[in-house]
Amino acid sequence: MIENNDKPQKKIKVGIIIAKCSKFKELFGIRTENINNDNWVSNWAFKIKEDVVKREGYDKTKIAGSFLISPEYPGCPYCGNNNYVYCCCGKVSCHNSNEEIFTCPWCGNSGPLSGPVTEMDIGSDR
Ligand SMILES: [Zn+2]
Ligand SMILES: [Zn+2]
Repeated sequence: MIENNDKPQKKIKVGIIIAKCSKFKELFGIRTENINNDNWVSNWAFKIKEDVVKREGYDKTKIAGSFLISPEYPGCPYCGNNNYVYCCCGKVSCHNSNEEIFTCPWCGNSGPLSGPVTEMDIGSDR
């Protein structure tokens, strides 16, 4: 019998990614669920206020893996964009998957999308 002394790590199962609408520059939260191993699925998006983000201390933990968007994902709560992107500045914003060029509402960078997201800052849902 193998003894398992590993303390169960505080593993995040559901997290909130803080994103900004690329059209209206408003903040929203993306609910992301860890379905297995390193696979994360985003299945909900909701409007959020900046002071709430600060108070709750979202975007504290870095998670890595594959990020998928559930068919149930309602899209950006402001403009309805069906996808989101992770900019090299470390921030997330909504994106229309039909558009190849994206402009980051956080840092102003603009350019073609650069492959799938592999890591993300996430806040735990309480
Ligand atoms: Zn949007
Ligand atoms: Zn950026």
